[in-house]
Amino acid sequence: MSLPTTTPSIHTHAPRVWAGCLHCYNSGRLVGAWYDAADIADAPHVFDVERIHRDGGYLSTPECEELWCFDIDNMPTSGEMDLLEATRWGEVYIELDAEHLWPALCAWVTTGMYTEDSHGTPCVSDFMEAYSGHWDTWEDFAYDLIDQTIDMSGWDELAQRYFDYAGFVRDLKHDFSVEGSERFSGEFGVYIFRNY
Ligand SMILES: [Zn+2]
Repeated sequence: MSLPTTTPSIHTHAPRVWAGCLHCYNSGRLVGAWYDAADIADAPHVFDVERIHRDGGYLSTPECEELWCFDIDNMPTSGEMDLLEATRWGEVYIELDAEHLWPALCAWVTTGMYTEDSHGTPCVSDFMEAYSGHWDTWEDFAYDLIDQTIDMSGWDELAQRYFDYAGFVRDLKHDFSVEGSERFSGEFGVYIFRNY
C-alpha cells in the first residue's frame, strides 16, 4: 500500500502532516488527511479518531484508537511522527508567527547548530538571534559584514590595500553556519546563522 503523495505546497511553507488511523492502515485502508500542524496545535482535541475518519471518508470501527502521522511536509525532520510531535511543531510555527521565516528555521535545524527548548523542538528566540538573513552567497554576507563592522577610513593606504579579506572571510566562517535555501523555500541562495 503506498502512502498518499505529498501535494506540493506551492502557496505555503507551513508545516503539515498527513494524519491517519493506524488500525485502518494496518487493515489496508488509507484513512486520513493533510492538516496544518498549526491547526492541530490550536485545538489538539478536535483532531480525534472521529474527525480523522470523517475527513478520510470512512466510518471508524471500535479498533480505531491510535492516530499516526504517516507523512510530513515542510518540516526539518524525516519520516513519521505521532500527533503530539506534530502539535509541538505547530506550536513552534505559531510562536515564530512569520511564515516567510519558516524555511529559514527548518534550514537552521538542518545545520545541526541549533538549540532546543524543553520539548525538544527548536528554540524560536534563539533562532531569531542566530538568523543572519538570506543571501545570494556566503561571500556576499561576509563582505557586507566586513564593510559594516570594520572602519578602514582611518587606516593608511597600504593597510587598506593589503587587508587580508580572504583570510578574514575564512575565519568568519567558524562563527556561522550556512545552508542552501533552495530545498527549503525554492529560492536560490543561502541562509546564514550565527553559531552558538
Ligand atoms: Zn480507523
